[in-house]
Amino acid sequence: MRRISIFGATGSVGEQTVDLILRAGGPAAYETVAVTGGRNVARLAEIAQALRAEIAICGEAACLPELRAALSGSGIAVAAGQAALAEAAARPADWVMSAIVGAAGLVPGLTALEQGATLALANKESLVTAGPLLMAAEQAHGGRVLPVDSEHSAIFQALMGEKIETVERIILTASGGALRDWPLERLAQATVADALAHPNWAMGQRITIDSASMFNKALEVIETREFFGVAPEQIEVIIHPESIIHSMVGFRDGAVMAHLGAPDMRHPIGFALNWPERAALPVARLDLAALAQLTFRAPDPARYPALRLAGEVMRLRGLAGAAFNAAKEIALDRFLAGQIGFAEMAGVVEDVLTLLSAAGGLEKPAFGLEDVLAMDHLARIRAGEAAEARRRKGG
Ligand code: NAD
Ligand code: MG
Repeated sequence: MRRISIFGATGSVGEQTVDLILRAGGPAAYETVAVTGGRNVARLAEIAQALRAEIAICGEAACLPELRAALSGSGIAVAAGQAALAEAAARPADWVMSAIVGAAGLVPGLTALEQGATLALANKESLVTAGPLLMAAEQAHGGRVLPVDSEHSAIFQALMGEKIETVERIILTASGGALRDWPLERLAQATVADALAHPNWAMGQRITIDSASMFNKALEVIETREFFGVAPEQIEVIIHPESIIHSMVGFRDGAVMAHLGAPDMRHPIGFALNWPERAALPVARLDLAALAQLTFRAPDPARYPALRLAGEVMRLRGLAGAAFNAAKEIALDRFLAGQIGFAEMAGVVEDVLTLLSAAGGLEKPAFGLEDVLAMDHLARIRAGEAAEARRRKGG
């Protein structure tokens, strides 16, 4: 029986992973090693019991008594904190879902790869902050990274049986997010609720707001560069409001292969779970006549400065991805807390990149995990300062 672990089991991707595993038979089909969550301890305990996991881990030490109480007598071990997450990732497993949100997903994912697991990677932040480390761990330990981001799963599928040298360009589709049709001058006033009204996808809160700002697409452009090894100039972004084409690959003979499907994360999750097989999945089938048309438009650089910043990060490489992601996480925290406006998030990230690149710390050709974590820490401090400076100016 395949041994699996789910990191971030209580989140949007995590729950959909649990759903697919339960539909496939749950404990009768898979041996679950570890399931982890953040603060939602009650739900984590339910998942651990439904899958009969060996161990359940919550993100912070403070949640441990509640988790212990919820699972007492179940025979399921409990633990808490970031070190426990890393230890759980080191337990032998064949398939590991990386669905923690943010840079906190990096160490568990990397650790799972180092024990040779197949890593189903929803946590794009891992590739953005430490792409070369993940790719090296995959090579060194015989594991495998399978993309779970819908765009990257689409590209991966369009590339099956193809040679990467024949790829001319990769075209990432973007819905444009909740505010895509707002007048540009109103964006500064957008509230959290406005940015959360995503037209097509039901996702976690953070990625939904990142979709409205296109920071999510910026992360995905960098993810594409790191995972598929193509040059930055080969990556294009197109707004496709219907979210039916999940991405495309253009080849040197002019052919473009597109991956279509209903916007449902259970497709890319299920694809990664069953790969290299293609199993039946409970996702809605496309009714093309009902859809009638698919539309496209170029992204407006003034509306989406995050895309320009992604270009800058790819030019710098090194630790620029770690700085970019950390600054973005802090800017998002501050927007969620009502301290800066929607349009100021990009300003905060740009301030941090400018400052740290002038200080000469970003363009490091070879780096290790410690360097990434140190840069993540530093960029968070600088982003907090940049956000505070903007808040004072605004208030
Ligand atoms: P979410 O917020 O719904 O869930 C995140 C999970 O991580 C939860 O289990 C939460 O408890 C846990 N978590 C959060 N912070 C933690 C910490 N510091 N330590 C330990 N655990 C922590 O997020 P999501 O939308 O499921 O996204 C998860 C990842 O997948 C993100 O990297 C996101 O970019 C990516 N992704 C999500 C979707 C989607 O449809 N939701 C699509 C593509 C990619
Ligand atoms: Mg995506």
